[in-house]
Amino acid sequence: MAKQLLAATRENRSFFASLRDQMRWDDKLLAWAMSNPGLRVQLFRFIDCLPALHSKPEVAAHLQEYLGDESVELPAALKGMLNFATPDSMPGQVAATTVSTAVETLAHKYISGENIKEVLKTIERLRKNKMAFTIDLLGEAVITEAEAQSYLDRYLDLMAQLVAASKKWTPVAAIDSAEGETLSQVQVSVKLTAFYSQFDPLDACGSEAKVSDRIRILLRRAQELGAAVHFDMEQYAYKDLTLSILKKILMEQEFRTRTDVGITIQAYLRDSERDTKDLIAWAKERGYPLTIRLVKGAYWDQETIKAAQKDWQQPVYNDKAATDANFETITQLLLENHEYVYAAIGSHNVRSQAVAIAIAETLNIPRRRFEMQVLYGMGDKLASALVARGHRVRVYCPYGELLPGMAYLIRRLLENTANSSFLRQSLEDRPVEELLAPPISKGDVPFAANHAAFANVADTDYADMELRNTAQTAFANVRQQLGKTYLPLINGEYQQTEQIIDSVNPSKYSEIVGKVGLISPEQAKAAMEAAKVAFPAWRRTPVKERADILRKAAVLMEQKRAELSAWIVLEVGKPVKEADAEVSEAIDFCNYYAQEMERLDKGYNYDIAGETNRYIYQPRGIAVVISPWNFPLAIAAGMTVAALATGNCTLLKPAETSSVIAAKFAEILVEAGIPKGVFQYVPGRGSTVGAYLVNHPDTHLIAFTGSQEVGCRIYADAAIVQPGQKHLKRVIAEMGGKNGLIIDESADLDAAVVGVVQSAFGYSGQKCSACSRVIVLEPIYDAFVQRLVEATHSLNIGLAESPSTQVGPVIDANARDRIKEYIEQGKKEAQAALEIPVTDTGYFVSPTIFSNVAPTAAIAQEEIFGPVVAVIKVKDFNEAIAVANGTNFALTGGLYSRTPSHIQQAEQEFEVGNLYINRTITGAIVARQPFGGFKMSGVGSKAGGPDYLLQFLEPRTITENIQRQGFAPIEGAE
Ligand code: NAD
Repeated sequence: MAKQLLAATRENRSFFASLRDQMRWDDKLLAWAMSNPGLRVQLFRFIDCLPALHSKPEVAAHLQEYLGDESVELPAALKGMLNFATPDSMPGQVAATTVSTAVETLAHKYISGENIKEVLKTIERLRKNKMAFTIDLLGEAVITEAEAQSYLDRYLDLMAQLVAASKKWTPVAAIDSAEGETLSQVQVSVKLTAFYSQFDPLDACGSEAKVSDRIRILLRRAQELGAAVHFDMEQYAYKDLTLSILKKILMEQEFRTRTDVGITIQAYLRDSERDTKDLIAWAKERGYPLTIRLVKGAYWDQETIKAAQKDWQQPVYNDKAATDANFETITQLLLENHEYVYAAIGSHNVRSQAVAIAIAETLNIPRRRFEMQVLYGMGDKLASALVARGHRVRVYCPYGELLPGMAYLIRRLLENTANSSFLRQSLEDRPVEELLAPPISKGDVPFAANHAAFANVADTDYADMELRNTAQTAFANVRQQLGKTYLPLINGEYQQTEQIIDSVNPSKYSEIVGKVGLISPEQAKAAMEAAKVAFPAWRRTPVKERADILRKAAVLMEQKRAELSAWIVLEVGKPVKEADAEVSEAIDFCNYYAQEMERLDKGYNYDIAGETNRYIYQPRGIAVVISPWNFPLAIAAGMTVAALATGNCTLLKPAETSSVIAAKFAEILVEAGIPKGVFQYVPGRGSTVGAYLVNHPDTHLIAFTGSQEVGCRIYADAAIVQPGQKHLKRVIAEMGGKNGLIIDESADLDAAVVGVVQSAFGYSGQKCSACSRVIVLEPIYDAFVQRLVEATHSLNIGLAESPSTQVGPVIDANARDRIKEYIEQGKKEAQAALEIPVTDTGYFVSPTIFSNVAPTAAIAQEEIFGPVVAVIKVKDFNEAIAVANGTNFALTGGLYSRTPSHIQQAEQEFEVGNLYINRTITGAIVARQPFGGFKMSGVGSKAGGPDYLLQFLEPRTITENIQRQGFAPIEGAE
């Protein structure tokens, strides 16, 4: 059967005489791109960027930048064509027009129409060829609630228009009926995540409620009109929630009897066979069949990259043959259960389709229960051959403007040019036997990320229901323990204090998270004495032993991960996912600095004949760690374990508002076996105890992270040599930022808006890396601001522990009042584009956006440390860089751009410690993105980087003359 199908698809080809000569230019272009990897990459990137380019000179300039790249294998003649003098020259314009038209033609091949008129024409043509259709609406990513509503409205409208038009269609028996049952002529395909802008598996209940409301409206209207609805499947992270939402709705009394709906299964997922069995069991229980569309899956690259970056298991099969084999297994499952589920087999692989037909024919499956599907523009000949064999074939037709449809187009191009694609292999005229051979996986080994240097721990994947349940249990446990008292740990003993303060939950300040005993200056003195006593033994402790204690601490933290994040959520008001990422960071710091110290401990040998030269490191002595509240675990732990790994005795003075979490960390170090006096937990007021420790003559090193004001003060104080002090103090001070993100006209606006929202409002803007200035180029300024405001407005503000929350409270009343003052000041300086009412049972501040802000305005210059963003308009890219650099800080910065020369310029000129391109600017990962800034953002080398520990050490060189009377041991003589 497969041979016949294949022959039929090939027959058509030779039918058009000299195919190779007549091959359409776009096929030629694709064929060419396939065989030239450099061209393939650059061409795809150029096409991706094209929708953002609004003028011919812009197109010409980008064409030159992308395809003129050295890596692109273009014949000299074509390179020559790209060699125009300026983008607005005549040859430039001609090149731009040619290429834009070419890409549009290419898009037309896969997109069934730009407007309803075009789509209707396509549909009528398909119907003439006895093919059914399903329509998918293309568009921008849904990132605002207005867009989610509009997605629904557009579908309601689309269904109505299609049904109205269908009245005039001549019935086609092959697709409009089966076994006497009339089938819907109109079918639409929808994506669940587009019904709610904040769709998130962590917030399963909230997402379900929002999405379900809209699905019900859609299904009701579809029924009135007589249209069928099919639910697409998207990324793996959404799969479980998508299935669970659909199962629930389709079981509701109102929808239970509907048989004109469908769900999708992706065979490239390792879970898919199990999911299919579950669906079949559920369909049995439901009692009314529905369609299951089986596809291979369109997000393979994305899923693989995401899993690698997150250190999660690759959800898709790594081996194409494993997917193909699984596809056949599931096909069999579906067809054997045709009483309960109707199968729609979606594939362009002739063998996959033939297997389905063979099974269907063997089992004598009624026509209603089995159809074949292809994508518009990808399986035309296969579709015709299937129709000719008498099958019902449905063509999946994406519809919408060509340019916003670019993401879809690129997925199709990737698919067609992938080595493993059946279409490509078929085009290459592989031998029939090879093409049609049964897929046999050579053992599917999941892709493993390359961790040559350092293995980070993985964050919790909240798409996993079990892990969500673990988180909930942890919250319940932690809530049981609220209100306990935490005392300082001095010389191995928890000591009573005169002063005890409450640490409250910023989301609900009536709730006391814990009571914290603050040390007095006398107790600080005693702690210093204990550290001095402990130091000689600690410095002599072998590095391996020190490192093992830290690794043990890492293991303990991983065991207590869910509890620790619950503490973070409750004590400092950080939303759940970000709290979990912070625990990962703390664990990474322990493992990384342990590993780093073992590397440094080897020292260096610079021996020459007759002389040994050893370069080694020794600890400095007593380290005072002063940490901020905004990363209460990660930063406190990072600075502390760096000091401990390097052999210093360490006193940790955490910020007052986050002392409970620091106490939890102290408990972990004790459990891991840290000796008494080596580590001490000394909570206290910054201005008294903090200052005392900084000024103490026995302090060797101060590791501080916090505000510029305090950091500068410490830097100055530490420079003063106190009576009795016999050394100079070393200060590491990581301070604030006023981080800017540049958005240029070539940026992907979907990505840029989401990136700014997350960078600016994640943890209510209280990350040192948070974006607080957005610098936008004039041509896209208005569009950007409007979408930013809408997207921000769509965020949920609420209790940090609630899974639906994207923006929680700020840390305390002082912070809230200070931020509000800045907002008032902003109103005088600029235009308030967004403010949202918030409750006052917690320390809430509205996410606030100011537009048309002058680069010199206070809100554009001073660190506000809250959810406040200043948007600045600039004329060109040079001005953007100048504005970005025009502050005292140099911590993080970012750029959204698809213009290679802009990216290059930013790399060279954007003055920040951490530059992020085409992504969010927060969330640095240990060892992967060592973190820290310069200018007024800090002195010291990057945390989580290869130079960090050097600051906690004194290097020494020991030279020995091993020559005696001209005689010396000869190297290697032993
Ligand atoms: P903060 O400066 O108010 O407090 C930091 C720590 O310093 C606290 O433990 C505090 O008790 C202590 N302290 C205060 N006065 C002191 C004094 N006179 N002597 C000694 N210690 C004193 O900062 P914060 O509000 O906790 O944290 C927010 C600030 O931290 C922001 O400016 C943010 O940008 C910065 N930060 C920077 C980084 C970075 O890596 N660059 C990371 C996180 C936070």
